[in-house]
Amino acid sequence: MNAHRPLTAVYPGSFDPITKGHEDIARRCLRIADQVLVAVAHTATQKKTSLFDVEERVAMNAAVFADEPRISCVSFSGLLVDYCKGVGAHLVIRGLRAVSDFEYEFQMAQMNQELWDDFETVFLTPDVDYSFLSASLVREVARLGGDVSTFVSPLVRDRLDEVFRSQR
Ligand code: ADP
Repeated sequence: MNAHRPLTAVYPGSFDPITKGHEDIARRCLRIADQVLVAVAHTATQKKTSLFDVEERVAMNAAVFADEPRISCVSFSGLLVDYCKGVGAHLVIRGLRAVSDFEYEFQMAQMNQELWDDFETVFLTPDVDYSFLSASLVREVARLGGDVSTFVSPLVRDRLDEVFRSQR
């Protein structure tokens, strides 16, 4: 890596929707990188169909990080390493919540290293308040009418309310 160039990190994920855990990881990332690309993955890394389409997820991410010029919100399709090569990013950030995240994250990091050797994955841990938080759990609580305002930003909460109210 060139020490004189700004260090760009890619933080990829499904962000369906963005939670305060994701937000915490992206902001922490600015302690080690000059700029962060919060990158919503098209289908490839999604196990099931999403609640919000990719464009809306990018728009919600952008609204959440509107105060932070060093964070840009994008989407990508295809291999993460190809996206990183295209934007000249040699650093990928992932969040680690608990041991349960470890095996999948470890496999993926090693596979990406096989695909492109000039590339590192760095794992960050969230504030303890968010270590149990996942987008799927937030969707489930919101679907059942629970209050998710401690877990997501107000604009995301409002969209979740809207979507699930129309389904009830
Ligand atoms: P989720 O598992 O919540 O659906 P994503 O697939 O969007 O999240 O995950 C993107 C990255 O963010 C992954 O590395 C995931 O481990 C991490 N992440 C998600 N939620 C949290 C959290 N609450 N704390 C730390 N990292 C998180």
